[in-house]
Amino acid sequence: MSLTNRILLAMVAGVALGSICNLIFNGTAAPAGFQTILQDYVIGGVFDVVGRIFVASLKLLVVPLVFVSLVCGSSSLGEGSRMGPIAVKTMVFYLATTAIAVSIALAFASILQPGSDVQLVADVAFVPTIPPPLADVLVDIFPSNPVRAMAEGKMLQIIVFALLLGYAISHAGEPGRRISAFFRDLEVVVMRMVDVLMKLAPYGVFALLAKLFANMGIGAIADLAAYFFTVLAVLLVHGLVIYSLLLKTLTGLSPRILILKMRPVWAFAFSTASSGATLPVTLRTVERRLGVHNTVAGFTVPLGATINMDGTAIMQGVATVFIAQVYGIDLSMTAFITVILTATLASVGTAAVPGVGLITLALVLEQAGLPVEGIALIIGVDRLLDMVRTAVNVTGDATVSLIVANSEKQFDEQVYLNPNADQIEAEGAEKAA
Ligand code: ASP
Repeated sequence: MSLTNRILLAMVAGVALGSICNLIFNGTAAPAGFQTILQDYVIGGVFDVVGRIFVASLKLLVVPLVFVSLVCGSSSLGEGSRMGPIAVKTMVFYLATTAIAVSIALAFASILQPGSDVQLVADVAFVPTIPPPLADVLVDIFPSNPVRAMAEGKMLQIIVFALLLGYAISHAGEPGRRISAFFRDLEVVVMRMVDVLMKLAPYGVFALLAKLFANMGIGAIADLAAYFFTVLAVLLVHGLVIYSLLLKTLTGLSPRILILKMRPVWAFAFSTASSGATLPVTLRTVERRLGVHNTVAGFTVPLGATINMDGTAIMQGVATVFIAQVYGIDLSMTAFITVILTATLASVGTAAVPGVGLITLALVLEQAGLPVEGIALIIGVDRLLDMVRTAVNVTGDATVSLIVANSEKQFDEQVYLNPNADQIEAEGAEKAA
């Protein structure tokens, strides 16, 4: 069986086993002793440990991979570097796709009215965190200490340092060429580590999902069905239709191939609910399977994981309308525009970790003049939506990378069209060895 199929099978098996365990925990049919063993040793023991080790190993690779890949990419751009245009195009596409995403979300939510008949009492208190001022966010992009930036995993700071180093390498003559060769070798080695992790993915994905679904209160979905399915519908429309249209019209490439090749990445995004933890796999797929040269992918993918969160913006759009409807507040046109702007900008500079979308939602609600406590209403189903929106977030990163790479001629169509692009490369490397 191919690795993709094994990962997808593990995903389905994890969800199924987790849901069965959830039924057992909530029922009285199974003997209490059995329930305790299942809960404490299997779900809370083995699966918990395997899942956490898996996520830790993914995170372990993020900083080395992003750094090495970006240094390679930016140093090989060399004289007459196109880094400026690449950066501008990438930013424009990231912001534009997010604005489109939140606009569709607002339109769907206004038509479907998920909050119109809801009589909800929030049972969880939500304490909003105060976001830092914009000036600090901007200054914080520039590292004063590259080692600290890496130790703290500050992605934007790492990107800035790697770009600077790459630029210097490409302008430093012979010593630069030596260092550049070293980084290219290092990239091959770090990618090999990602390969190892991909092979272990079925176990990690299975453990994470089994544990999550065993402990998840799916019951909350019933109360919030209208909200839940509205967000889900917009996520699917954006993830499958809008990106496909963009890719087709701007590059002429077949979106079907993108969707097929992104499936393993979705499994990672879905089970970790973190674009950050998924980053090594997204980058590997975009470079090795979609054919984007690392001159572009090394920059667009890490940047996208940090600042491009279309799925998150969709949740925020629907949540804003939902909360306004529950509280009986009419949203003016100005409020809609404010939501589009804040949801688009709020995703810049926030960490790509599970649940961060709820924190920035506080900012969006505040700007739109809505009660921030409303967030407590939707917490119950947020984790499940987080998993799906993270998959949309990483698809957006891959799509924009393809569009930018294609326009910059940093794209290998043969790799994109070849269903086995990756395997061939792996076999080739083995033969060469
Ligand atoms: N979990 C999402 C991500 O990492 C962010 C969010 O929507 O909370 O992309």
